Amino acid sequence: MKSRRDFLLELGGSAFSLPLLSSLASTEAQALAPDKQLRVVLVGLGSYAERVATAMKDCKKARLVGGVTGTPSKIDTWSSKFGVDKANFYSYKDFEKLKDNPDVDAVYVTLPNSMHHEYVIRAAKMGKHVICEKPMSVSVKQAEEMIAACKKAGVKLYIGYRMHFEPYTRELIRMRKAGELGKIMHVNAYFGFKSGDPNQWRLKKALAGGGALMDVGIYCINAARYATGEEPVWISAEEAKTDPVKFKEVDETITWQMGFPSGVIASCATTYNFNNFERLYVVGDKGFVELSPAYGYGPIKGRTHKGEMSWDTSKMHQTWQMDGLADCILNGKPDPNVTGEEGLKDMKIIDAIYKSIAAGGKKIML
Ligand code: NAD
Repeated sequence: MKSRRDFLLELGGSAFSLPLLSSLASTEAQALAPDKQLRVVLVGLGSYAERVATAMKDCKKARLVGGVTGTPSKIDTWSSKFGVDKANFYSYKDFEKLKDNPDVDAVYVTLPNSMHHEYVIRAAKMGKHVICEKPMSVSVKQAEEMIAACKKAGVKLYIGYRMHFEPYTRELIRMRKAGELGKIMHVNAYFGFKSGDPNQWRLKKALAGGGALMDVGIYCINAARYATGEEPVWISAEEAKTDPVKFKEVDETITWQMGFPSGVIASCATTYNFNNFERLYVVGDKGFVELSPAYGYGPIKGRTHKGEMSWDTSKMHQTWQMDGLADCILNGKPDPNVTGEEGLKDMKIIDAIYKSIAAGGKKIML
Protein backbone atom coordinates (compact mmCIF):
# COMPACT_ATOMS: atom_id res chain seq x y z
CA MET A 1 0.00 0.00 0.00
CA LYS A 2 1.26 3.50 -0.82
CA SER A 3 2.19 5.88 1.98
CA ARG A 4 0.75 9.40 2.02
CA ARG A 5 4.17 10.73 0.96
CA ASP A 6 4.34 8.34 -2.02
CA PHE A 7 0.85 9.41 -2.94
CA LEU A 8 1.65 13.13 -2.72
CA LEU A 9 4.95 12.74 -4.55
CA GLU A 10 3.17 10.94 -7.34
CA LEU A 11 0.69 13.80 -7.61
CA GLY A 12 3.09 16.68 -7.12
CA GLY A 13 6.25 15.22 -8.58
CA SER A 14 8.66 16.41 -5.89
CA ALA A 15 8.96 16.93 -2.17
CA PHE A 16 9.00 20.70 -2.82
CA SER A 17 5.36 20.46 -3.92
CA LEU A 18 4.26 19.22 -0.50
CA PRO A 19 3.34 22.64 1.01
CA LEU A 20 1.11 23.38 -2.01
CA LEU A 21 -0.80 20.23 -1.26
CA SER A 22 -1.32 21.02 2.40
CA SER A 23 -5.13 21.02 2.20
CA LEU A 24 -5.09 17.56 0.70
CA ALA A 25 -2.50 16.54 3.29
CA SER A 26 -4.64 17.74 6.19
CA THR A 27 -7.69 15.76 5.08
CA GLU A 28 -5.57 12.69 4.68
CA ALA A 29 -3.45 13.25 7.78
CA GLN A 30 -5.54 10.95 9.90
CA ALA A 31 -5.45 8.07 7.46
CA LEU A 32 -5.19 4.74 9.21
CA ALA A 33 -1.80 3.07 9.38
CA PRO A 34 -1.44 0.79 6.36
CA ASP A 35 -0.72 -2.13 8.67
CA LYS A 36 -3.51 -1.17 11.10
CA GLN A 37 -1.14 -0.31 13.91
CA LEU A 38 -1.28 3.03 15.71
CA ARG A 39 2.10 4.65 15.04
CA VAL A 40 3.08 6.72 18.05
CA VAL A 41 5.73 9.36 18.77
CA LEU A 42 6.57 10.06 22.42
CA VAL A 43 7.25 13.68 23.40
CA GLY A 44 9.71 14.04 26.33
CA LEU A 45 11.86 10.95 26.66
CA GLY A 46 12.02 10.77 30.45
CA SER A 47 11.37 7.91 32.82
CA TYR A 48 7.68 7.44 32.10
CA ALA A 49 8.22 7.62 28.33
CA GLU A 50 10.79 4.85 28.73
CA ARG A 51 8.24 2.72 30.56
CA VAL A 52 5.65 3.30 27.82
CA ALA A 53 8.22 2.48 25.13
CA THR A 54 9.16 -0.75 26.92
CA ALA A 55 5.51 -1.73 27.28
CA MET A 56 4.84 -0.97 23.62
CA LYS A 57 7.31 -3.66 22.57
CA ASP A 58 4.54 -6.13 23.49
CA CYS A 59 1.71 -4.21 21.82
CA LYS A 60 -0.12 -5.78 18.90
CA LYS A 61 -2.06 -2.73 17.73
CA ALA A 62 0.27 0.15 18.62
CA ARG A 63 3.87 0.75 17.68
CA LEU A 64 6.48 3.27 18.80
CA VAL A 65 7.87 5.01 15.71
CA GLY A 66 9.69 8.08 17.04
CA GLY A 67 10.46 10.56 19.77
CA VAL A 68 10.86 14.25 20.56
CA THR A 69 13.77 15.15 22.80
CA GLY A 70 16.06 17.99 23.81
CA THR A 71 18.92 15.54 24.41
CA PRO A 72 20.47 14.39 21.09
CA SER A 73 22.39 11.55 22.79
CA LYS A 74 19.04 9.86 23.52
CA ILE A 75 18.50 9.31 19.79
CA ASP A 76 21.18 6.59 19.60
CA THR A 77 20.12 4.93 22.85
CA TRP A 78 16.41 4.94 22.06
CA SER A 79 16.91 3.92 18.47
CA SER A 80 18.87 0.81 19.42
CA LYS A 81 16.85 -0.03 22.56
CA PHE A 82 13.43 0.29 20.95
CA GLY A 83 14.21 -0.30 17.26
CA VAL A 84 13.07 3.16 16.21
CA ASP A 85 14.30 4.80 12.99
CA LYS A 86 16.73 7.64 13.84
CA ALA A 87 15.08 9.78 11.16
CA ASN A 88 11.92 9.88 13.32
CA PHE A 89 13.48 11.80 16.23
CA TYR A 90 12.87 15.53 16.53
CA SER A 91 14.00 18.36 18.76
CA TYR A 92 11.35 20.49 20.53
CA LYS A 93 12.21 23.30 18.08
CA ASP A 94 11.53 21.00 15.14
CA PHE A 95 8.32 19.58 16.65
CA GLU A 96 6.15 20.93 13.79
CA LYS A 97 8.15 18.87 11.29
CA LEU A 98 6.12 15.92 12.52
CA LYS A 99 3.26 17.31 10.47
CA ASP A 100 5.01 16.21 7.30
CA ASN A 101 5.74 12.73 8.58
CA PRO A 102 2.99 10.51 7.17
CA ASP A 103 4.17 7.58 9.24
CA VAL A 104 2.98 9.11 12.53
CA ASP A 105 -0.65 8.80 13.61
CA ALA A 106 -0.47 9.94 17.24
CA VAL A 107 1.66 12.00 19.59
CA TYR A 108 1.95 10.93 23.25
CA VAL A 109 2.91 13.85 25.54
CA THR A 110 4.98 12.66 28.51
CA LEU A 111 6.44 16.03 29.51
CA PRO A 112 6.23 17.76 32.92
CA ASN A 113 2.62 18.75 33.68
CA SER A 114 2.76 22.45 32.81
CA MET A 115 4.06 21.64 29.31
CA HIS A 116 1.10 19.38 28.39
CA HIS A 117 -1.10 22.30 27.32
CA GLU A 118 1.37 23.70 24.78
CA TYR A 119 2.37 20.39 23.22
CA VAL A 120 -1.13 18.93 23.03
CA ILE A 121 -2.33 22.03 21.18
CA ARG A 122 0.69 22.06 18.86
CA ALA A 123 0.18 18.35 18.10
CA ALA A 124 -3.53 18.86 17.39
CA LYS A 125 -2.73 21.69 14.98
CA MET A 126 -0.59 19.23 13.02
CA GLY A 127 -3.59 16.93 12.62
CA LYS A 128 -2.15 14.21 14.87
CA HIS A 129 -4.22 12.36 17.44
CA VAL A 130 -3.06 13.10 20.99
CA ILE A 131 -2.53 11.06 24.13
CA CYS A 132 -1.57 13.22 27.11
CA GLU A 133 -0.26 12.15 30.48
CA LYS A 134 -2.06 12.90 33.73
CA PRO A 135 -2.75 15.44 35.09
CA MET A 136 -3.89 16.65 31.66
CA SER A 137 -3.00 20.26 32.54
CA VAL A 138 -2.29 22.53 35.48
CA SER A 139 -5.62 24.41 35.31
CA VAL A 140 -9.23 23.97 34.26
CA LYS A 141 -8.83 26.73 31.65
CA GLN A 142 -5.88 24.94 30.03
CA ALA A 143 -7.79 21.66 29.94
CA GLU A 144 -10.73 23.35 28.22
CA GLU A 145 -8.41 24.93 25.65
CA MET A 146 -6.78 21.55 24.93
CA ILE A 147 -10.16 19.91 24.36
CA ALA A 148 -11.28 22.78 22.10
CA ALA A 149 -8.06 22.61 20.05
CA CYS A 150 -8.41 18.86 19.47
CA LYS A 151 -12.07 19.25 18.58
CA LYS A 152 -11.27 22.03 16.12
CA ALA A 153 -8.55 19.95 14.50
CA GLY A 154 -10.79 16.87 14.34
CA VAL A 155 -8.34 14.72 16.32
CA LYS A 156 -8.87 12.48 19.34
CA LEU A 157 -7.60 13.46 22.78
CA TYR A 158 -7.03 10.76 25.40
CA ILE A 159 -5.49 11.01 28.87
CA GLY A 160 -3.00 8.37 30.06
CA TYR A 161 -5.44 6.91 32.63
CA ARG A 162 -3.91 3.43 32.42
CA MET A 163 -5.99 1.91 35.24
CA HIS A 164 -9.04 1.86 32.98
CA PHE A 165 -7.28 -0.79 30.87
CA GLU A 166 -5.96 -2.83 33.83
CA PRO A 167 -7.84 -6.12 34.57
CA TYR A 168 -8.42 -5.73 38.36
CA THR A 169 -9.75 -2.21 37.91
CA ARG A 170 -11.87 -3.29 34.97
CA GLU A 171 -13.34 -6.09 37.11
CA LEU A 172 -14.17 -3.64 39.90
CA ILE A 173 -15.99 -1.43 37.40
CA ARG A 174 -17.78 -4.44 35.87
CA MET A 175 -18.95 -5.65 39.29
CA ARG A 176 -20.23 -2.20 40.23
CA LYS A 177 -22.09 -1.79 36.92
CA ALA A 178 -23.54 -5.33 37.16
CA GLY A 179 -24.94 -4.50 40.61
CA GLU A 180 -22.84 -7.20 42.30
CA LEU A 181 -21.84 -4.75 45.03
CA GLY A 182 -25.42 -3.53 45.48
CA LYS A 183 -25.90 0.13 46.30
CA ILE A 184 -22.47 1.75 46.78
CA MET A 185 -22.27 2.99 50.39
CA HIS A 186 -18.69 4.25 50.77
CA VAL A 187 -15.36 4.66 48.93
CA ASN A 188 -12.00 4.96 50.58
CA ALA A 189 -9.08 5.84 48.27
CA TYR A 190 -5.53 6.78 49.10
CA PHE A 191 -2.27 6.91 47.18
CA GLY A 192 1.08 8.50 47.93
CA PHE A 193 4.81 7.99 48.28
CA LYS A 194 7.87 9.63 49.78
CA SER A 195 9.33 11.90 47.13
CA GLY A 196 13.12 11.92 46.81
CA ASP A 197 15.28 14.54 45.08
CA PRO A 198 14.31 17.97 46.46
CA ASN A 199 15.36 19.58 43.15
CA GLN A 200 13.07 17.58 40.86
CA TRP A 201 10.47 19.34 38.67
CA ARG A 202 7.64 17.66 40.65
CA LEU A 203 8.38 19.99 43.57
CA LYS A 204 8.41 23.15 41.43
CA LYS A 205 4.99 24.75 41.04
CA ALA A 206 5.80 26.28 37.65
CA LEU A 207 6.40 22.84 36.11
CA ALA A 208 4.19 20.58 38.25
CA GLY A 209 1.21 22.87 38.87
CA GLY A 210 0.78 21.28 42.30
CA GLY A 211 2.18 18.51 44.45
CA ALA A 212 0.99 15.06 45.50
CA LEU A 213 -2.63 15.84 44.61
CA MET A 214 -1.89 16.56 40.94
CA ASP A 215 0.62 13.74 40.63
CA VAL A 216 -0.95 10.78 42.47
CA GLY A 217 -4.00 12.07 44.33
CA ILE A 218 -5.59 12.32 40.89
CA TYR A 219 -5.74 8.49 40.83
CA CYS A 220 -8.02 8.58 43.89
CA ILE A 221 -10.24 11.27 42.36
CA ASN A 222 -10.59 9.23 39.19
CA ALA A 223 -11.11 6.03 41.23
CA ALA A 224 -13.87 7.57 43.36
CA ARG A 225 -15.64 8.43 40.09
CA TYR A 226 -15.25 4.95 38.54
CA ALA A 227 -16.08 3.24 41.83
CA THR A 228 -19.39 5.07 42.17
CA GLY A 229 -20.24 5.79 38.53
CA GLU A 230 -21.25 9.26 39.75
CA GLU A 231 -19.87 12.79 39.56
CA PRO A 232 -19.26 14.61 42.85
CA VAL A 233 -21.46 17.55 43.84
CA TRP A 234 -19.31 18.86 46.67
CA ILE A 235 -15.72 18.73 47.94
CA SER A 236 -14.08 19.53 51.25
CA ALA A 237 -10.34 19.27 51.89
CA GLU A 238 -7.49 19.94 54.30
CA GLU A 239 -3.72 19.97 53.91
CA ALA A 240 -1.01 18.88 56.32
CA LYS A 241 2.48 20.23 55.67
CA THR A 242 5.05 18.62 57.93
CA ASP A 243 8.05 19.65 55.80
CA PRO A 244 7.48 23.26 54.71
CA VAL A 245 11.02 23.54 53.35
CA LYS A 246 10.92 20.65 50.90
CA PHE A 247 7.28 21.31 50.03
CA LYS A 248 7.58 25.08 49.89
CA GLU A 249 6.00 25.36 46.44
CA VAL A 250 3.65 22.36 46.27
CA ASP A 251 1.26 20.41 48.48
CA GLU A 252 2.61 17.58 50.63
CA THR A 253 -0.31 15.66 52.22
CA ILE A 254 -3.99 16.30 51.52
CA THR A 255 -7.13 14.59 52.79
CA TRP A 256 -10.44 15.30 51.11
CA GLN A 257 -14.04 14.17 50.84
CA MET A 258 -16.11 13.95 47.68
CA GLY A 259 -19.89 14.01 48.10
CA PHE A 260 -21.96 12.31 45.38
CA PRO A 261 -25.62 12.82 44.38
CA SER A 262 -26.64 9.43 45.85
CA GLY A 263 -25.36 10.56 49.23
CA VAL A 264 -22.20 8.43 49.09
CA ILE A 265 -19.07 10.10 50.42
CA ALA A 266 -15.60 9.15 49.15
CA SER A 267 -12.89 9.68 51.73
CA CYS A 268 -9.51 10.20 50.05
CA ALA A 269 -5.90 11.12 50.85
CA THR A 270 -2.58 11.64 49.09
CA THR A 271 0.99 12.41 50.12
CA TYR A 272 4.52 13.09 48.93
CA ASN A 273 5.95 12.37 52.36
CA PHE A 274 5.52 8.68 53.24
CA ASN A 275 5.37 5.25 51.65
CA ASN A 276 3.05 2.21 51.93
CA PHE A 277 -0.02 4.27 51.15
CA GLU A 278 -2.06 2.78 48.31
CA ARG A 279 -5.59 1.37 48.48
CA LEU A 280 -9.04 1.54 46.94
CA TYR A 281 -11.92 0.17 49.03
CA VAL A 282 -15.43 0.21 47.60
CA VAL A 283 -18.23 -1.06 49.80
CA GLY A 284 -21.83 -1.59 48.78
CA ASP A 285 -24.81 -3.05 50.61
CA LYS A 286 -24.26 -6.42 48.90
CA GLY A 287 -20.47 -6.70 48.78
CA PHE A 288 -17.11 -5.00 48.49
CA VAL A 289 -13.92 -4.75 46.44
CA GLU A 290 -10.59 -3.90 47.98
CA LEU A 291 -7.60 -3.26 45.72
CA SER A 292 -4.21 -2.82 47.37
CA PRO A 293 -1.94 -1.95 45.70
CA ALA A 294 -4.49 -0.23 43.51
CA TYR A 295 -2.77 2.32 41.26
CA GLY A 296 0.97 1.60 40.95
CA TYR A 297 2.61 -0.30 38.12
CA GLY A 298 1.53 -3.55 39.64
CA PRO A 299 0.90 -6.26 40.08
CA ILE A 300 -2.42 -4.96 41.40
CA LYS A 301 -3.88 -7.22 44.08
CA GLY A 302 -7.40 -7.46 45.36
CA ARG A 303 -10.17 -9.27 47.14
CA THR A 304 -13.93 -9.07 47.12
CA HIS A 305 -16.72 -10.42 49.36
CA LYS A 306 -16.36 -13.61 47.26
CA GLY A 307 -12.65 -14.06 47.99
CA GLU A 308 -9.25 -13.31 46.47
CA MET A 309 -9.23 -11.80 42.98
CA SER A 310 -7.03 -13.41 40.36
CA TRP A 311 -6.61 -11.67 37.03
CA ASP A 312 -3.96 -11.50 34.32
CA THR A 313 -0.88 -9.62 35.51
CA SER A 314 1.42 -10.79 32.72
CA LYS A 315 1.40 -7.52 30.79
CA MET A 316 2.55 -4.04 31.72
CA HIS A 317 -0.40 -1.68 32.22
CA GLN A 318 0.83 0.50 29.38
CA THR A 319 0.72 -2.45 26.95
CA TRP A 320 -3.00 -2.86 27.64
CA GLN A 321 -3.47 0.89 27.53
CA MET A 322 -1.75 1.47 24.19
CA ASP A 323 -3.42 -1.51 22.48
CA GLY A 324 -6.74 -0.28 23.91
CA LEU A 325 -6.23 3.28 22.70
CA ALA A 326 -5.17 2.00 19.27
CA ASP A 327 -8.51 0.18 19.10
CA CYS A 328 -10.34 3.41 19.97
CA ILE A 329 -8.44 5.54 17.45
CA LEU A 330 -8.13 3.08 14.58
CA ASN A 331 -11.24 0.98 14.99
CA GLY A 332 -13.65 3.43 16.61
CA LYS A 333 -14.05 1.27 19.70
CA PRO A 334 -15.67 3.18 22.61
CA ASP A 335 -13.08 4.34 25.10
CA PRO A 336 -13.31 3.37 28.79
CA ASN A 337 -13.73 6.95 30.09
CA VAL A 338 -10.26 8.29 29.27
CA THR A 339 -11.07 11.23 26.98
CA GLY A 340 -9.95 14.81 27.48
CA GLU A 341 -13.41 15.50 28.92
CA GLU A 342 -12.71 12.96 31.68
CA GLY A 343 -9.38 14.67 32.36
CA LEU A 344 -11.22 18.00 32.61
CA LYS A 345 -13.65 16.58 35.20
CA ASP A 346 -10.68 15.61 37.37
CA MET A 347 -9.09 19.03 36.89
CA LYS A 348 -12.30 20.69 38.12
CA ILE A 349 -12.23 18.50 41.24
CA ILE A 350 -8.53 19.30 41.83
CA ASP A 351 -9.39 22.99 41.53
CA ALA A 352 -12.21 22.60 44.09
CA ILE A 353 -9.88 20.73 46.50
CA TYR A 354 -7.34 23.58 46.40
CA LYS A 355 -10.16 26.12 46.82
CA SER A 356 -11.47 24.27 49.87
CA ILE A 357 -7.99 24.15 51.44
CA ALA A 358 -7.52 27.87 50.80
CA ALA A 359 -10.91 28.51 52.46
CA GLY A 360 -9.94 26.55 55.60
CA GLY A 361 -11.72 23.31 54.68
CA LYS A 362 -14.97 24.92 53.53
CA LYS A 363 -17.38 22.77 51.50
CA ILE A 364 -17.12 23.73 47.83
CA MET A 365 -20.15 22.99 45.65
CA LEU A 366 -19.43 21.75 42.13
P1 NAD B 1 10.74 12.79 33.93
O1 NAD B 1 11.37 13.92 34.65
O2 NAD B 1 11.36 11.44 34.08
O3 NAD B 1 10.65 13.09 32.37
C1 NAD B 1 10.29 14.36 31.87
C2 NAD B 1 10.88 14.55 30.48
O4 NAD B 1 10.58 15.87 30.03
C3 NAD B 1 12.43 14.41 30.46
O5 NAD B 1 12.82 13.73 29.30
C4 NAD B 1 12.89 15.86 30.38
O6 NAD B 1 14.14 15.99 29.73
C5 NAD B 1 11.78 16.48 29.56
N1 NAD B 1 11.69 17.94 29.72
C6 NAD B 1 11.55 18.82 28.72
N2 NAD B 1 11.52 20.07 29.17
C7 NAD B 1 11.66 20.00 30.50
C8 NAD B 1 11.72 20.99 31.54
N3 NAD B 1 11.61 22.29 31.27
N4 NAD B 1 11.90 20.54 32.79
C9 NAD B 1 11.97 19.23 33.10
N5 NAD B 1 11.93 18.24 32.14
C10 NAD B 1 11.77 18.64 30.86
O7 NAD B 1 9.21 12.77 34.38
P2 NAD B 1 8.21 11.56 34.23
O8 NAD B 1 8.14 10.82 35.50
O9 NAD B 1 8.52 10.80 33.00
O10 NAD B 1 6.79 12.34 34.08
C11 NAD B 1 6.38 12.89 32.85
C12 NAD B 1 4.84 12.95 32.81
O11 NAD B 1 4.33 11.63 32.90
C13 NAD B 1 4.20 13.73 33.97
O12 NAD B 1 3.09 14.44 33.49
C14 NAD B 1 3.76 12.66 34.94
O13 NAD B 1 2.63 13.03 35.71
C15 NAD B 1 3.42 11.53 33.97
N6 NAD B 1 3.54 10.20 34.59
C16 NAD B 1 2.52 9.34 34.49
C17 NAD B 1 2.61 8.08 35.06
C18 NAD B 1 1.48 7.10 34.90
O14 NAD B 1 1.54 6.03 35.50
N7 NAD B 1 0.48 7.39 34.09
C19 NAD B 1 3.74 7.73 35.76
C20 NAD B 1 4.79 8.63 35.85
C21 NAD B 1 4.68 9.87 35.26
